Amino acid sequence: MEKYEGSCACGTIRYFFEGEPINSAFCYCKECQVHTGSDKWFVLWVPKDKFSLTKGSPSSFTRKGDSGENVNYQFCGACGTTLCAEITAGDFYSVAASTLAGNKNLSPKMAIYTASAPSWAVFPEGVPKFAALPPDFSA
Ligand SMILES: [Zn+2]
Ligand SMILES: [Zn+2]
Repeated sequence: MEKYEGSCACGTIRYFFEGEPINSAFCYCKECQVHTGSDKWFVLWVPKDKFSLTKGSPSSFTRKGDSGENVNYQFCGACGTTLCAEITAGDFYSVAASTLAGNKNLSPKMAIYTASAPSWAVFPEGVPKFAALPPDFSA
């Protein structure tokens, strides 16, 4: 099974998961723009029972998602890197692909929350776009 490891910029927080992510997406929602300082966040959806922190204790920040359920961001209190967000409505973590070690040859399967994208957003070619979430996902 494929193994994935990652860390924040300063290395204080490390995590691990194995197995293919259940989804990979560019998320263009406003919150992701603010968290990343970019037009989007490249996230991998990893089932909660597959994901574990292996070093350090992240700080957290909670907001209500569209579903009304909590989204718990985990970030490094030292360097500020957002590593992942626990999506309680979906029982998975949105893991920041940018924090993975090595090059895993990943690509997004979909663009989500494109209705919230800024006018200067860049969209990937040949990837389905959804104004919010695709109809068969809920988070
Ligand atoms: Zn750090
Ligand atoms: Zn988002």
